[in-house]
Amino acid sequence: MSCYKGKYHDELCANAAYIGSPGKGILAADESTGTIGKRLASINVENNESNRRIFRELLFTAPDTLQYLSGIILFEETLYQKTAAGKLFVDVMKEGGVLPGIKVDKGTIELKGTNGETTTQGLDDLAQRCKKYYEAGARFAKWRAVLSIGPNEPSQLSMNENANGLARYAIICQENGLVPIVEPEILVDGKHDIDRCADVTERVLAVVYKALSDHHVCLEGTLLKPNMVTPGSEAPRVSPDVIAEYTVRALQRTMPPAVPAVVFLSGGQSEEEATVNLNAMNKLAVKKPWTLTFSFGRALQQSTIKAWAGKEENIAKGQQALLTRCKANSEATLGKYQGGTGLVEGAFESLHVKDYKY
Ligand code: 13P
Repeated sequence: MSCYKGKYHDELCANAAYIGSPGKGILAADESTGTIGKRLASINVENNESNRRIFRELLFTAPDTLQYLSGIILFEETLYQKTAAGKLFVDVMKEGGVLPGIKVDKGTIELKGTNGETTTQGLDDLAQRCKKYYEAGARFAKWRAVLSIGPNEPSQLSMNENANGLARYAIICQENGLVPIVEPEILVDGKHDIDRCADVTERVLAVVYKALSDHHVCLEGTLLKPNMVTPGSEAPRVSPDVIAEYTVRALQRTMPPAVPAVVFLSGGQSEEEATVNLNAMNKLAVKKPWTLTFSFGRALQQSTIKAWAGKEENIAKGQQALLTRCKANSEATLGKYQGGTGLVEGAFESLHVKDYKY
């Protein structure tokens, strides 16, 4: 049997290619209720439905910002929420040329017999949920698999199990009209150097693409959301040019040109660091058969949340901070970012959280 050719085939390929349009990227605003609660707590805002809605309205209605985005990932609650004026967020996005996406995984659980490694849950009722989300306007999905680097990690069990889960998720999404973002995140936690990160990233991606092939996933209708290849959080830093070279090489070795785009996660980098690293990759004059763009969560929202600080009178300030970051990252997808937009509160702050849960 060949790869997926069902009724959504052409739509999936078109939507995946659209998300990867040069100059555009994804805003990951799909924090679970617990994770967004931690963000809100950092500015002393209570984690209730109304405050989560207000914050997300600030993001999605920021003037002039949607032109730099091709997709926004939502948590289920947000898919059904409206602006204060009564317009569904999904309609705000559609009018701005932005595809709504949805987080469909249900978090991680420990893999028995490993040193704290995990697998991701949520497959059982996934087909029904995808159908429902498609009807509500979602056109792509995200599923986060988490791997870590340790003396004996990632184990073969964890790589196989997570790759298989991503592949099952991906084909179920395609059968129900959602472009799957395949996200095997290798956490930055640790003392390892960049060579070790590159080695692990290459091995993990190789196993993931074998599983996608085994499960008959149509690669043209998918996107990859990987970590950038960097040294561990407790190791000496390297320059953006080195990160760019290692990251692009790991992708060249493992990622089929059939996939239209790579949408990087920021993984605890500061806003400015993530932008500068993405820019360095797009400046590299080497073979790159896919668009290299962003799907940042923390690295798109940190200065916005600080500028807003939960106060109505600061909404415009928060929106200006988001616009600044989205424009900077848009330029970075073209290798044209000049730097200098990091000079606001929050932009250089490390956003690393040990053992990050989404
Ligand atoms: P960060 O960019 O904050 O790492 O998160 C992106 C994301 O969607 C993780 O699943």
